[in-house]
Amino acid sequence: MTRDITEEIKRLKEEKNAVILAHYYVRPEVQEIADYIGDSFYLSKLAVGLEAQTIVMCGVSFMGESVKILNPEKTVLLPDAAADCAMAHMASVETIEKMRNTWDDLEVVCYINSTAELKRHADVCVTSANAVKIVKALPNKNIFFIPDRNLARFVAEQAPEKHFVFNEGFCPVHEELKLQELQTLKAQHPEAEVLTHPECGEAVCRESDYIGSTSGIIAHAEASSAKEFIICTENGVRFELGKRCPEKKFYFTETEPVCGDMKLITLEKILHVLETGENEVLADPSMVEEAGKPLEEMLRLAK
Ligand code: SF4
Repeated sequence: MTRDITEEIKRLKEEKNAVILAHYYVRPEVQEIADYIGDSFYLSKLAVGLEAQTIVMCGVSFMGESVKILNPEKTVLLPDAAADCAMAHMASVETIEKMRNTWDDLEVVCYINSTAELKRHADVCVTSANAVKIVKALPNKNIFFIPDRNLARFVAEQAPEKHFVFNEGFCPVHEELKLQELQTLKAQHPEAEVLTHPECGEAVCRESDYIGSTSGIIAHAEASSAKEFIICTENGVRFELGKRCPEKKFYFTETEPVCGDMKLITLEKILHVLETGENEVLADPSMVEEAGKPLEEMLRLAK
């Protein structure tokens, strides 16, 4: 059955000149069928310049929005339009305006995990892979970082020359990673390196050997001489880690971090949107222009 679906997806992809992009957090069988797999930064960079006319974005809705805004002439399809990121909504335009009126010389830095509406009110976007580099490159002293308080804290620590104004958003999947479970794993595997995503809470980050984006975690595991790793991020990354480092061992906390929205993407839904063209991401020209600016600024500064 899975084989039939896979074959049918491949056939339709060719027929419709479509390409499939997938985030590292989606199900293994979806990563298997994708043409490109990566984190938000890789996928947003990649989408600009793809020749295919249709892009099926296997991830949550803000990813589809970003791809559409950067490629307004393309058809962008979401296998499940209800797959959303809770953190993407955890900031408000009112707060951004309030901060702009409170602080001079303020740059509103918006994590790509945010709605298009928030992006259109920001100055520059960042991903966890490029946030430190971009914030350090900004001429402004005052940074209002939305929506994630944990990534903001991590970046603020690397850029002590800046003054950060924090927002109270967070990723429920990463922030709920349990410190006690991590400490138990560390006691069981004392040789293991702890690799952590900066969306995790402060206490978990303090117990870590390396903190970085999903692609950073994968690259670190590949390059490290260590043989065992404790991975503090969403469990979908296990698929790529297993492919790239089959001889190494990876452990996750007992309560595995799972993003239920990322797991909503299935082969059946990919097939359905390829067949029907449903769940197309739409963006009006003003949204493309206004939310596109901070995204393009990110791509420029991250070069
Ligand atoms: S893992 Fe967290 S930040 Fe990523 S999509 Fe899920 S809820 Fe959003």
